[in-house]
Amino acid sequence: MVLSARLVLLGSKGGPAIRPGGPWPTSSLLEIAGRTIVVDCGLGVTRGLTDAGVPLKALDLIVVTHLHSDHVLELGPLIHTAWTAGLAHGVRVFGPAGTRGYWQGFLQSMAFDVDIRIVDEGRPDLRRLVEVVEFSDGQVFSENGLTVSALRVDHPPVTDCFALRFDHAEGTIVFSSDTAYFPPLADFASGADILVHEAMLAAGVDRLVARTGNGAGLKEHLLASHTFAEQAGTIAEAAGVGRLVLHHLIPADDPEISQADWIAAARKNWPGALTIASDGLVVEFADDSSG
Ligand SMILES: [Zn+2]
Ligand SMILES: [Zn+2]
Repeated sequence: MVLSARLVLLGSKGGPAIRPGGPWPTSSLLEIAGRTIVVDCGLGVTRGLTDAGVPLKALDLIVVTHLHSDHVLELGPLIHTAWTAGLAHGVRVFGPAGTRGYWQGFLQSMAFDVDIRIVDEGRPDLRRLVEVVEFSDGQVFSENGLTVSALRVDHPPVTDCFALRFDHAEGTIVFSSDTAYFPPLADFASGADILVHEAMLAAGVDRLVARTGNGAGLKEHLLASHTFAEQAGTIAEAAGVGRLVLHHLIPADDPEISQADWIAAARKNWPGALTIASDGLVVEFADDSSG
């Protein structure tokens, strides 16, 4: 295995809210097969990529797991900022049904600026630089030894929500996307080097709901459509992955919850290598140095 692949967790919290000094909504950078791939584009993705040392004009592939705002809100602004930073080659965006409509709407909202920069700064037409490919279950993409496949997961009321698997000689990584506990994910993630699984901590959910101010409705949504850290451990164990990364943390910024609480919850069902996400954290594919 060639060890040049790496994962950078750019934004690690679940849900769209941000708080002073707190973590940012979900986005990840995957460098594999010599490609720069962004998985999900929550608020802060552009700043996160820049802080990770990625030149924005190197943007290559973007994959969006579903159209909840904490995964897609900054998709347009990311591509537009890359364009103003000198992006001159085509970018492909893979997303569920509705992604094309999002992109068209974004372009429409920015038509004044896009048109004026083409004339005034001689930039290529942004509308022709971006190809949107809408995907569903099965193979999403296969090129030069890199294969991406998708599995529809259980995230009501969103039906088009997909886990992603990236296979390459450098390694295999699976992202759960947002999902309730979903046993078929274990087969989908079978043998992966890294499983990035969303996670919720029971102890923090009630306090989060009280703070957010949409009591019963929010709690019902969380319990029906997300996975507890213990259950993410069960999926990792059944899949036999090399490392479990807990990501899209709910809650992510409760001062009464520490990394030790996340570890203790996952450890109930997962004895292997474990990483708790934080913004900017780098995960190497064969890194077995941390516990
Ligand atoms: Zn989410
Ligand atoms: Zn979601």
